[in-house]
Amino acid sequence: MTNDRASSPSAELLLRNVFGYSSFKPLQKQIVDTLLAGRDVFALMPTGGGKSLCYQLPALAMPGTAIVVSPLIALMKDQVDALAALGVEATCINTGVSGNERSKRGYEMATGRFKLVYVAPERLLTESFLRLLRSTKISLFAIDEAHCISEWGHDFRPEYRAISRLRSLFPTIPMAAFTATATASVRKDILAQLGLERAAQFRGSFNRPNLFYSVWPKTDPYHQLLTYLRGRPEASGIVYVGARKRADEVAAALVHDGVRALPYHAGLDADQRRRHQEAFMRDEAKVVVATIAFGMGIDKQDLRFVIHYDLPETLANYYQESGRAGRDGAPSDCIVLYSSADAARVRRFARQKDDRHEQERALAQLNAVTAWAERPACRRQSLLAYFGEDCEPGGEHCCDICRTPAVLEDVSTDARTLLACVAGTGQRFGRTHIVEVLLGSLSEKVVSRGHDRIAVHGTGRHRAREHWLNLARELVQHGYLVEDGDGYHTLQITPSGRRLQAGQEPLLLPRTRQVTSRASKGPVDGDLGLFEELRGLRRAVAAERGLPAYLVFQDSVLRQMASDLPRSEADLRRISGIGERKLAAFGPVFLQAIAEYVARS
Ligand code: ADP
Ligand code: MG
Repeated sequence: MTNDRASSPSAELLLRNVFGYSSFKPLQKQIVDTLLAGRDVFALMPTGGGKSLCYQLPALAMPGTAIVVSPLIALMKDQVDALAALGVEATCINTGVSGNERSKRGYEMATGRFKLVYVAPERLLTESFLRLLRSTKISLFAIDEAHCISEWGHDFRPEYRAISRLRSLFPTIPMAAFTATATASVRKDILAQLGLERAAQFRGSFNRPNLFYSVWPKTDPYHQLLTYLRGRPEASGIVYVGARKRADEVAAALVHDGVRALPYHAGLDADQRRRHQEAFMRDEAKVVVATIAFGMGIDKQDLRFVIHYDLPETLANYYQESGRAGRDGAPSDCIVLYSSADAARVRRFARQKDDRHEQERALAQLNAVTAWAERPACRRQSLLAYFGEDCEPGGEHCCDICRTPAVLEDVSTDARTLLACVAGTGQRFGRTHIVEVLLGSLSEKVVSRGHDRIAVHGTGRHRAREHWLNLARELVQHGYLVEDGDGYHTLQITPSGRRLQAGQEPLLLPRTRQVTSRASKGPVDGDLGLFEELRGLRRAVAAERGLPAYLVFQDSVLRQMASDLPRSEADLRRISGIGERKLAAFGPVFLQAIAEYVARS
């Protein structure tokens, strides 16, 4: 390490020299300072917000060894590798290493060799590890993915429960808990279980400004996907599908069409999964077609897109899954292929649940997703609103809706037709049935109730099913209809609905637009040819050393090189993401490549 005063190097120096960053991300400085002052911390920060640095940097600045609890072996290994690449002594102790190796690391830990030791929760409170902890000088405890401790959360891990003893066993050592997902009940649970009631609490913004959200009507999904991928052959990303079989099929089809894609799901054996994940991390595969089994362990920074081929399960899931795109901060796409037929299928599924409570929860979650996808309102704003955060709609680079705002259309005639149908069927039916009647369906349900003989039957044939379903939803949203919460979503006309029905004034609503695509088309600035060449070089360097490509340099660093054309080590040092260690290891070859490129062009 290269700092002048070895005893207590300033946070800024460590940030620059070891991590290679020129400034802190939001909240990092406050959290680091709080830990350095010996206080406990609870931090709720979004994925990609830079939580690791919040404990890694204090770990380097404080005497002793930081103990980091992390739920997944793959995650620990990535972090230890990344730290090694920065020249930091760190290791992990878990079932992934042999007993012998574990003892050796334990011994070295007690001698104070490591600044950070990552440990699995089930090992932390074993007798042998406790003994080790007592004979080690500990700087701080960091609990990563702290929501795993709560039964109310989505990733509950019973092993995490054991951590709650830590506070009483080591009352004087600062403890920091980090998570990207915590509802109010999960947060309370974390604080109570870890004994962090007096911790300084931090809450970051969940807005991800570099993500462009869009929803595409799912018309010809495979073709839509292929066209998108062909438009950006260098980009890598994840395609989420709802079933294992579809993951296999779509991946195989993509390979057949010349895309370097691999499937990933819980049906593959552990070895296959590991190989596919590694190929993806090394940029050998560009696209992973996965079920939601793929995700938590993935720390690939330069994903340019996350596409949901099928409907996300909940908005919270959607936030997490889409959030895997663009962790390096560069513009990236989050796309959902949406059809109301998919939604209807999920709804049928939910209705089959035996437990009434479960059923209601599933339907409420589904409704939140469909409303988000169908409503012509800023996607970012409505996604964040779901997490209790406010934001302004963001224009051109925000989402499909902001890019192409909806136009107002006079829908009075259709609205009156729809209301007439609700009235004509006795206000006892839901959206789907009403629309069936409007479209003139002769289904059993329609005929058996005599709805084929009422005046409104078939009066909506001139418009598509989607149009009517949407309109019904909008009339509910604007208070002309209410949807009964009885589980059947019976539609009833409100007093303002009756006024609309009887009156003459026009009803103007934003029309659902033709959905557009497109966010980022690769690097925004810099020389594209050079950028591609540097990526090639990175691949070669990474392969030679058996490292994932992003551990050499992240995309954002290469992009900066392609635009700054650095000529010396001093120039490189100015680029965010290049610390001393990487400068020494990779600087010379990259400088040479840049010089050659400049000479040629
Ligand atoms: P989280 O755990 O919150 O999801 P990470 O700790 O994995 O986030 O960090 C996300 C990315 O941000 C990583 O690529 C990391 O190197 C980068 N990063 C962290 N702190 C900074 C900083 N101060 N400046 C620039 N990049 C940073
Ligand atoms: Mg993290």
